[in-house]
Amino acid sequence: MNARLPRRDPSDPVGAVARTASDLSGDSARDVRVSFEFFPPKTEKAEKRLWAAIEQLEPLQPDFVSVTYGAGGSTRERTHRTVARMASETSFDPAAHLTCVDATREEIDAIVDAYWEAGVRHIVALRGDSPTGIGAAYTPHPGGYAYANDLVEGIKARHDFDVTVSAYPERHPESGDWTTEIDNLKRKVDAGATRAITQFFFSPDIFWRFQERVLDAGIEIPIIPGLMLQPNFKGLARMSKMCGVAVPNWYAELFDGLDNDPVTRDLLTASLMNELTAELYERGVRDFHLYTLNRSEIAGSVARVLGMHQRRPAKAA
Ligand SMILES: Cc1cc2nc3c(=O)[nH]c(=O)nc-3n(C[C@H](O)[C@H](O)[C@H](O)COP(=O)(O)OP(=O)(O)OC[C@H]3O[C@@H](n4cnc5c(N)ncnc54)[C@H](O)[C@@H]3O)c2cc1C
Repeated sequence: MNARLPRRDPSDPVGAVARTASDLSGDSARDVRVSFEFFPPKTEKAEKRLWAAIEQLEPLQPDFVSVTYGAGGSTRERTHRTVARMASETSFDPAAHLTCVDATREEIDAIVDAYWEAGVRHIVALRGDSPTGIGAAYTPHPGGYAYANDLVEGIKARHDFDVTVSAYPERHPESGDWTTEIDNLKRKVDAGATRAITQFFFSPDIFWRFQERVLDAGIEIPIIPGLMLQPNFKGLARMSKMCGVAVPNWYAELFDGLDNDPVTRDLLTASLMNELTAELYERGVRDFHLYTLNRSEIAGSVARVLGMHQRRPAKAA
């Protein structure tokens, strides 16, 4: 039988994404802070792709951008080069990721000093994983910084960097319980960290529950949700498993059969991440960190829903 639909105000935007975009039109976009994460490219082709993405994303004026760091000399060098180029050639405020892995304190201290000299003022300080891969047992370098809190302390002792650390809404796989997890975050804050970016997650409720635990522990630094914009579902599922991140069944089912259809995967990822972002925004979150994977399309769409295109144009490089 035909039923009447409930009445609604025709001028009200429909859905969380449209409501968020509408709420953030004009000056209110200034309350939102968005950052982009990139990884250092390995090949010339990847380098070109990264800088093409930067060209697209720079006019959105993120609050900061960050560049990840891997174990091994060449990866370290690539991070430094990418961060230094961003600092000198773009309007970005770049943060360099740094880990404790496979290096002495002296080696890490030299990297920290080089960033300071290059004008970089923000470090994302991490422990890192065993060079043999995520999940393998981690052993601190005998002459190095052992855990992220030691690294934060070491960095702050050298220069007055702004230091960001990691946080895990579903617990770090090596933390046996929540007390261990939250105590570790607290140690990093006590050592001088001023914000934490989270591991990615798929349900806003996971973020709320974590936020509650953080607040209950009296930790007051901003906890910034990290949003993974990975459209390659196979890779995403593999990474989620290694990192202890739960992928909902319905999310996995959406990507079923799309291995050879990158366009549909991109569209789905953009719509799912826009939805998650809008839901977080509607519940009061104002800081967002986008794992861009060096691509501009999905990150650009999420950033636009968050009102970033309303901000001032990029200043000349
Ligand atoms: C936002 C973000 C960015 C990242 N960027 C990078 C990157 O650029 N490069 C990279 O290689 N990896 C990166 N990672 C991954 C990260 O290096 C791994 O998740 C790693 O396993 C833990 O690093 P952490 O800084 O969180 O470690 P920590 O905060 O040091 O904690 C790791 C584990 O060790 C435990 N622990 C801490 N102190 C002690 C102690 N004294 N004794 C015993 N156990 C202890 C903690 O409880 C926790 O379970 C990133 C992760 C996130 C969330």
